Amino acid sequence: MNASALFDLVLRNGQVIDPSQHINRVTDVAVHNGEIAAVGDSLGPGLVEKDLRGKYVCPGLIDLHGHWWEGSSWGIDPNICLNHGVTTAVDAGTTGFISFPYFRKTQLSAAAVRVLAFVNISAIGIPTNLVGELEDIRFARPRETARVIEANRDVCLGVKIREGTMTGCHGVEAMDKAIEAAECAGLPLMVHITRGADVRRVLQNMRPGDIVTHCFQGRGDGILDPGDKRLLLEVVEARRRGVLFDVGHGAGAFSWEVARRAFELFFYPDTISTDLHRYSVARWAFDLPSVMSKFLHLGMPLEDVILKSTWSPAKSIGRDSLGALRAGAEADIFVFEVEEGCFPLEDTHLRTETAFRRIKPFLTIKQGTIIAPGSQPVRLRKLYECDDELYRFIEQTAAPS
Ligand SMILES: [Zn+2]
Repeated sequence: MNASALFDLVLRNGQVIDPSQHINRVTDVAVHNGEIAAVGDSLGPGLVEKDLRGKYVCPGLIDLHGHWWEGSSWGIDPNICLNHGVTTAVDAGTTGFISFPYFRKTQLSAAAVRVLAFVNISAIGIPTNLVGELEDIRFARPRETARVIEANRDVCLGVKIREGTMTGCHGVEAMDKAIEAAECAGLPLMVHITRGADVRRVLQNMRPGDIVTHCFQGRGDGILDPGDKRLLLEVVEARRRGVLFDVGHGAGAFSWEVARRAFELFFYPDTISTDLHRYSVARWAFDLPSVMSKFLHLGMPLEDVILKSTWSPAKSIGRDSLGALRAGAEADIFVFEVEEGCFPLEDTHLRTETAFRRIKPFLTIKQGTIIAPGSQPVRLRKLYECDDELYRFIEQTAAPS
């Protein structure tokens, strides 16, 4: 304790990485009244001081794709994000216009982590893995979706659609309705692409600022031509006009092979996200630092990995006050170590590679409050027999080695 303190908290001597300001050096970060007060050398004194020599300090992570509505069989408690540096958790359309207001009232507003959301074009959101939410096209409701977004503009980021088996034979029509809703709201559309999606047509329809998620999924109908394994022309054109590509790792959507091939073609993701949900949290994705570690393993520089988990997602959702350590911004900070050793990392095609470095959470700071890893209880709902269908599907559709 220091009676003459200028700041509530000073983080000293950490390697500060803030790609939004091109900072990557050993320096101090000062926090006061829940906000970033300053980044610079020899700051202080602080009421509380932490010596972070040998550790890294970056903006609180933004996980662009997760499922945080526990009224869905996919949903999990968003507060577990605070165990691993994520201070902003984006729900990727678990709710539609019917369930969004209750999601907001019961979970989104009550969460300690900041939760923002895409609203599903399907009226029912994504309630279960048993039946696709757009197998019946009557669930696609552009007007009502835009209205609920309009009424919740402070937390709604855009429209979500899943293109694949869950759209049955209505993929094209459903996509048109999703774009209609996004246009009406004046916000981006996030499109999940998996097997069964008419991916070329989907990409042709996407607008600058729209987001493709599951870009390295490897289960068919992805970004690569199945024959020559080159990028689809539509992918190249979409990126050129400003469509963004997000990882959305999940339980079925990350292939070492596809990611490595994309890297060979100089195709890197715009944003790194977990697609964390009931089925990916205990295996495969685990948390955002684990997914980020896979990109370190693929050879992406640490600064880029941080960029794609902080400032890039902040920009993609139009929230420039997040994902940066700027004076006056809310003090959302992630402190971590880069641990060396041998770490098995599994993709969702059941292939494990050994990484020699991984990102290990040390502290999360949310609006100036220090949160230790593991301090947020993780209470996952029990699995039912029918949940096994999803795991069986993952095993059956894994790419042959
Ligand atoms: Zn998802």
